[in-house]
Amino acid sequence: MFIGHFAVGLAAKPLAPRASLPVLLAAPMALDIAWPILVTTGIEQVRIVPGITAASPLALDYMPYSHSLVMAIAWAVLFAIGYVVWIGDRRGAPVLGALVVSHWVLDWIAHRPDMPLAPGVETRVGLGLWNSVPGTLIVETAMFVGGALLYARATRARDRIGGAGFWILIAALTAMYFGAVLGPPPPSVGAMMGLSFGSMAILGVAWWIGRHRENG
Ligand SMILES: [Zn+2]
Repeated sequence: MFIGHFAVGLAAKPLAPRASLPVLLAAPMALDIAWPILVTTGIEQVRIVPGITAASPLALDYMPYSHSLVMAIAWAVLFAIGYVVWIGDRRGAPVLGALVVSHWVLDWIAHRPDMPLAPGVETRVGLGLWNSVPGTLIVETAMFVGGALLYARATRARDRIGGAGFWILIAALTAMYFGAVLGPPPPSVGAMMGLSFGSMAILGVAWWIGRHRENG
């Protein structure tokens, strides 16, 4: 999942009104922020195997530290503690922790059985939504539009950057997502990692746009 993760973060705004837009997007993506760092440092392993699932060419051979259920819970606790220390919002912290764990649940729905339960445990699970391109696109786009509408209802644009800018961001992410699913696979793991690190710029744009909206 990609925009499906963002969807959950956007939808959580009414539950964590003090959380900023980039934080709401980073929490459900936390495991995918850890992942390229762990792959680049050689701790986790991925290969590109076109056709391994219809919607994603990633053979996720080894990712127990970024993507196991037990580690997802550990990352969630860390994220929630960091958020309380940094922002001081105790009410929002459990919501952000739940967003971090939601990544594992959505990946479990989307992935082939490559999702680990804990480091050192062989069993891996996955329901395989990615085996269907239309299924993947319909489910994730519907989630994302729903999440964006919930975020928009919980907040109010201060100006055109917060208004039109927000919806341009939503449209651009949807277009990028369709491009990634329908386009050719990345030429190499290195290119894939570059893309992963590059996509973190989205958080910067979200920070800028989020500052032009207020709770309402
Ligand atoms: Zn993931």
